[in-house]
Amino acid sequence: MVTPFCFSMSGQVIDIGKSVVMYEMEHNTNIICIELQEGLVFVDSGRMDDVAKKFRKDMEMRFSKKATHLLLTHYHHDHICGMSAFKDCEIVGCETGHQKFLEDLKGNLSLESRKAQVERWKVMAVELKWKPSKSRDLLWKYYPKVELLPPTKAADEFVIASSEQKVIFQRVGGHSECSAMIHVPLEEIVILGDNIVGDPTKVGGCFFGGLDESIVGIYDEVAKFKPKTIIPGHGPITDLPYMKEAGAYFKKLFKSLREMYDTGVKPTEVASYKDLPEFYDEKPDYWDSALERLYQKISSEMSLKEIDKIHVELNQASFENDGEKILNFYAKDFVVTVSNGFFVRGADDFKRCFRPTNYVDIKNERLDHFFLGDKFIEKIATTSKTNTNGTEQTTESEAVHIWIRENADWKIQSDIRLGSKDIE
Ligand SMILES: [Zn+2]
Ligand SMILES: [Zn+2]
Repeated sequence: MVTPFCFSMSGQVIDIGKSVVMYEMEHNTNIICIELQEGLVFVDSGRMDDVAKKFRKDMEMRFSKKATHLLLTHYHHDHICGMSAFKDCEIVGCETGHQKFLEDLKGNLSLESRKAQVERWKVMAVELKWKPSKSRDLLWKYYPKVELLPPTKAADEFVIASSEQKVIFQRVGGHSECSAMIHVPLEEIVILGDNIVGDPTKVGGCFFGGLDESIVGIYDEVAKFKPKTIIPGHGPITDLPYMKEAGAYFKKLFKSLREMYDTGVKPTEVASYKDLPEFYDEKPDYWDSALERLYQKISSEMSLKEIDKIHVELNQASFENDGEKILNFYAKDFVVTVSNGFFVRGADDFKRCFRPTNYVDIKNERLDHFFLGDKFIEKIATTSKTNTNGTEQTTESEAVHIWIRENADWKIQSDIRLGSKDIE
């Protein structure tokens, strides 16, 4: 029995300029073909190897040229699963993130892991009563069987210079550390992968899932090229005015999110915050949860910076033996417990137990940290040097701190001293 080839029906081939053709698949990833004098350069390979193979063949027939390169906008599975169709080509991906990708090919992207993953998803789908999804069906069909390959060339900058025109591959980061843009100057086209989406409601999942503040700088960079056409990783093409509008929105949005953090807004209150800028396009229905996630991300970054700063101030206060100042960094109902069972509870108890120490040096290293709801938990290693009557002593200790945010200020609520040892 011959299986009919049915996927060409679900996508459309779109000519963009004289030498660029895009294959846009409904719910799926765009594959782009750039015709150069010497051959065809493809960008991304989609999720279906047979579709990629057919698109390559069609383009080779149309232009009477052979494929020479496959450029990957990044290493996410929905952009690389068709890569085996370009096995005989130079396959180019970013140097940044390349090592991790090679490890993933042996780990969670190995054939066995992918097969097992899809089996787990199938069980979850039944247990959690997932709604039917065409896109997911395709993922389950192809993900466990396609052949994934290491790039033949890993570079953060790569130029294919043909006699008439250039194709410039350049890492930009943003959506993922391994994200690149591809610039075709002669056609005034920039291919931006998952760093942009032209249709947020239908294919915005990838874009909003990986969105962070660096998008503003990336758009500023792209704007310098003054492209006529911008090709996203998913969905319809877009242009510079649209990207600029999105960029202006994100700039305002991230400013608002920072202001919210400064005033102590809780993640659950973000979507209803009064000073949010108006969304630049039709809002996707998951936008509120995406916003909450963005806020969490920004809050985490800002919190870490604040807590790092507090550590420096706390060390300084310890250095100066300033008990009152040290108390400032603790919550009202704080507890300090020491591994031998001794504990201090609250300010009065602290003042009774406070003993000045002759510190010469204090250094901290954060060994681990977690955000847990509105708490922050960290494990800290401290190396301190004291000088008592001319005798220097270095002590290493470890502690777990549980921080809470009170009126937009981080305070230590619990300080669990795990133990210490003198080392010289
Ligand atoms: Zn992606
Ligand atoms: Zn994607």
